[in-house]
Amino acid sequence: MGPPAYLRREPFVRPANRLWQWFLTRYGFWAIPMPWRVVHVRRDIFPREDLMVWLVQHERVHYEQMERDGLLRWHFWYFWYTWKFGYRMNPYERMAYNRYGAHLYPEPALGHRR
Ligand SMILES: [Zn+2]
Repeated sequence: MGPPAYLRREPFVRPANRLWQWFLTRYGFWAIPMPWRVVHVRRDIFPREDLMVWLVQHERVHYEQMERDGLLRWHFWYFWYTWKFGYRMNPYERMAYNRYGAHLYPEPALGHRR
């Protein structure tokens, strides 16, 4: 695990609002980082300290990526990669999971990638 992300500005992590709660539940995600440094966390995950210790660090890696690549470029490539490789094999996710959370969501086995 690690190293922890070094950030110029820390995100505010909160239980998801109604819109994002619906989205996260509908698509089976745990959290979504807003470009303005607010992370919406699904409300059944937010009280789970055992998961949150990993999730917060994982999301911080995404902000490190945004600081490095720029907000617009990060979002463009993030959606492009997700479309092309799927969520888990998106290179931004592979890098973030390699540092935090791979034990919670391992990479799919070779030959079963989409
Ligand atoms: Zn991620």
